[in-house]
Amino acid sequence: MKLKSIISMVIMVVITLSIYSVSYADCWSGTTNKVNSEGKIYFWKDSSIESYGYSAKFTSAISNWQFSVDAMSFSNVTSADDYTDRWYVGDTVISGLGGQIIPRKKNWLGLWVTADLDEDWSHCKVYVYDNQMDYYNLTTLERVSNITHELGHSLKLDHPSTTQISVMNQGIQDIGPSAYDEQEYLSKW
Ligand SMILES: [Zn+2]
Repeated sequence: MKLKSIISMVIMVVITLSIYSVSYADCWSGTTNKVNSEGKIYFWKDSSIESYGYSAKFTSAISNWQFSVDAMSFSNVTSADDYTDRWYVGDTVISGLGGQIIPRKKNWLGLWVTADLDEDWSHCKVYVYDNQMDYYNLTTLERVSNITHELGHSLKLDHPSTTQISVMNQGIQDIGPSAYDEQEYLSKW
């Protein structure tokens, strides 16, 4: 290959990489709850949170995300409307699955469906799985970190696309949001 075409290929690769790095944030697009303009996430807690013994752990996970006055506050409501997140603790047969979120929206027929990650969500359901955390002998701190991770997804934070210290990394950890996570959060909201 001629040097000139090698150079132009290199330029093409560099341009492609820079577009990629600009457009690929570690947050999903769109909004959630429609109340984010108020700087609040409204959530409703299923009774499973208390019955599985996770009330204090969820409280710690909430405070993990309220790292500054600029951070969104979480507001507990006793009945859920269309724009209220719903939080649950349960068990799953899926080995190694510590938790998951299910983003939801109404389709054009007015029926509730799972939303794409990059769409506007009306709300999302947050699940953490007690039997999996038991199976891997997670400490209290690791369980709080796992809940913090799932709440991060409910705030539209994705897994890091680059190597980072982050509560949004997959796997067992015992950390809260890192400087990187706070930056991602503040760039999103
Ligand atoms: Zn995750």
